[in-house]
Amino acid sequence: MKLIKFTKSGIYCVPGKFYIDPWKPVEYAIITHAHSDHARWGSSHYLCHTFSKPVLQHRLGSDIAVETMDYGQTRDINGVKVSLHPAGHIIGSAQVRLEYKGFVSVISGDYKLEDDGLSTPFEPVRCHEFVTESTFGLPIYNWLPGQELFAAMKNWVAYNQMNQRTSIFVAYSLGKSQRLMRALEGLTPLYVHNSIANTNSAIARAGIVLPSYKILHEEQDKELIKNSIVIVPPALVGTTVIKKIPNGAIAICSGWMQVRGSRRWQAADAGFAVSDHADWKGLLEAVKATGAEKVYVTHGYQSVFSKYLNELGIDASEVSTQYGDDEAQQDVLKEEGVKG
Ligand SMILES: [Zn+2]
Ligand SMILES: [Zn+2]
Repeated sequence: MKLIKFTKSGIYCVPGKFYIDPWKPVEYAIITHAHSDHARWGSSHYLCHTFSKPVLQHRLGSDIAVETMDYGQTRDINGVKVSLHPAGHIIGSAQVRLEYKGFVSVISGDYKLEDDGLSTPFEPVRCHEFVTESTFGLPIYNWLPGQELFAAMKNWVAYNQMNQRTSIFVAYSLGKSQRLMRALEGLTPLYVHNSIANTNSAIARAGIVLPSYKILHEEQDKELIKNSIVIVPPALVGTTVIKKIPNGAIAICSGWMQVRGSRRWQAADAGFAVSDHADWKGLLEAVKATGAEKVYVTHGYQSVFSKYLNELGIDASEVSTQYGDDEAQQDVLKEEGVKG
């Protein structure tokens, strides 16, 4: 019997009779993390990491049936030994390890190798079979260390202040925004859009301490916000919320900024290639560290990355799933009632 199967509803554990990050409503769903493409509405039961629970409830409804586990804890589901392991992607993100009759599968969810100081750092898990994401699975994606990127952001803020400009950072509401808040803490008053503030409150309910911030209001006092830092989600680019900010300079914070001009962000004043995903080298390192004899590549540049793994002598194939792009994503904000 195969331990996992790729079905039209999602990744299915055959003997366990449950799904991992299903995109259709199912009876029992194990969720790697609370980004909207992995944590979808409508399943009868959810299981996720303890830190993910408040954000999952914030996004899917406080009435969902959700159980939690800590990293490394194990649970038996229909004879399958299930455990969660840090993926380093966002707070509470987990790789799912399944063990059945001595055979081990690991489903990565999204992950990054660099310790961001907020998420529990990524831990490689040995397995026979590894399902990996490949969002940035091209050799051109090669991140600078976070410290260097955040130093550049601070310089940019200082430069803007000299020119009486407000620094507007565009960053995904769950994950990136909190990293930015941490990195830019204490420079000047820090404002965040409501959708980020709501996510922050959910994260705080998980017991995570975040820097202090103010909420950006639609009719913001222009004097107060002058020269400050504002963080907004990608869906607000081009909207009046941003246009009303006096003398704003806009910086996009996304892995896609490594390749300028390829996207729709030409109007931005600056771009910082800061990502919550592994870059090309990170993906390779992670795959090798599992020691897996079979690798399934999905969620990104699966064709390029799986072919490259084959060239290295690693048996890899691409699988198609319905996970999206959380480095540029807009749809979650619509779910949260933000008008684009
Ligand atoms: Zn994600
Ligand atoms: Zn994803």
